[in-house]
Amino acid sequence: MNMPVRDDAIEVTIIGAGIVGICCALSLQERGARVTVLDKAGPAEATSYGNAGVISPWSCIPQSLPGLWRNVPGWLLDPKGPISVRWRDVPSFLPWVMRFFQAGSTIEKVARLADAMDALNRPNMDIYRRHLRGTGHENLLQDSWYLHVYRDAHGASLSAIGQRLRIERGAPVQIVPGDELREIEPAISPVFQSAVVIRDQSRAVQPSALGKALADKARSMGTFFKSCEVTEIRQKPGHRWQIICDREYRETGNLVIAAGPWSMKLLKPLGISLPLASERGYHLEFHNPGVTLKHSIMDAERKFAASSMQNGIRSAGTAEFARLDAPANYSRARMLESMTKELLPDLNTGDTSEWMGTRPSFPDSLPCICELPGQRNLFAAFGHSHYGLGMAPKTGQIIADLVMRTPTNIDISAYHADRFKKHGQSQ
Ligand SMILES: Cc1cc2nc3c(=O)[nH]c(=O)nc-3n(C[C@H](O)[C@H](O)[C@H](O)COP(=O)(O)OP(=O)(O)OC[C@H]3O[C@@H](n4cnc5c(N)ncnc54)[C@H](O)[C@@H]3O)c2cc1C
Repeated sequence: MNMPVRDDAIEVTIIGAGIVGICCALSLQERGARVTVLDKAGPAEATSYGNAGVISPWSCIPQSLPGLWRNVPGWLLDPKGPISVRWRDVPSFLPWVMRFFQAGSTIEKVARLADAMDALNRPNMDIYRRHLRGTGHENLLQDSWYLHVYRDAHGASLSAIGQRLRIERGAPVQIVPGDELREIEPAISPVFQSAVVIRDQSRAVQPSALGKALADKARSMGTFFKSCEVTEIRQKPGHRWQIICDREYRETGNLVIAAGPWSMKLLKPLGISLPLASERGYHLEFHNPGVTLKHSIMDAERKFAASSMQNGIRSAGTAEFARLDAPANYSRARMLESMTKELLPDLNTGDTSEWMGTRPSFPDSLPCICELPGQRNLFAAFGHSHYGLGMAPKTGQIIADLVMRTPTNIDISAYHADRFKKHGQSQ
């Protein structure tokens, strides 16, 4: 599959081989660019390794919604609640929290964010399938539904704001009672009495394997992957960029920052300041689980997702606000054991493994995908928060358009870094 690269091919370096950087590499490679990807770990070894695997065209619900703030104190006080904070890090998060609540303060704001999320997520299954074609790993992506399950028979509702946003954008959503829920997924406990079923989506049965298969495809098309840690980037004359990577100096015509939660470490020295928070999440994987799931399941009250992966059942979720370099708190992963057992009573919990990853989160649930203001040939592709697996393929296409200086086929103003300067807000 190695494609001939023209001598005058546009030269691009991508920092970060998470799912976002990998999808950028594939789309740039398809357009004939000469692509290098630098990563301190390896393809899909960081946040893109252990996520819940949900790939939904219908992920268009921002995290911040009107009235959400009322739930926050209860969630924080509950040791098994979906949110936790590292209290000593709270002062550094407060400005972000203010912006978060502002972002979702009215229905109008939330509807605009939902449109922007929808545009990034809608084509994700089609683009993934195209990228996977011919790799021999097509089965890493499986058609599936999303079942949001509730203990109360009347808990599932289509009038809740999140479901309304989905339905308004064409999502195939319906309510099913408990007995029908168990016909769809027999392993789910009778404790759960109703569900919202979202059809026509997919799931990765091993997100890390999906990332690695796509990285291999990019490699086979000519992308050069190098393992190294970038410590600094500098602008050079002629709008070129210098990268200092394991004490080596490299130069490139175009530089894409796809370093997930670490992106601001590279950009701050250039005077760029954006409200990117590290929102950690955990998974607990049950090996030899004794039960299987056909779909992605969300416990709508506990707010974690469970699904069958190649290595067993994975339960993933929780939002923990802590400094990027703070030590992991694996009790957040272990609490998923009793919660998953409540969901799946026949689950074998004897053999488990834990994982922590860091979502790169902006307050409005949208990523930054743009050429950075005042920094010609320097592009942002980070901040995909809870939806990076779903949003990565379209992000890759947009980055390819920006680098190749071709028009994008959607309005991308909502993803611009400048949005945080609007309305007199300082950075
Ligand atoms: C518990 C959990 C569940 C989730 N579930 C889902 C889900 O079901 N669906 C969904 O769509 N999203 C989900 N997400 C979110 C999704 O995983 C992320 O949005 C996505 O993985 C971010 O990808 P990324 O490529 O931006 O970052 P990463 O995967 O973190 O990649 C960034 C890469 O940059 C490299 N890097 C950083 N700094 C440097 C440097 N200085 N030099 C060299 N390399 C560097 C890192 O090594 C890393 O490989 C979940 C997240 C979590 C935590």
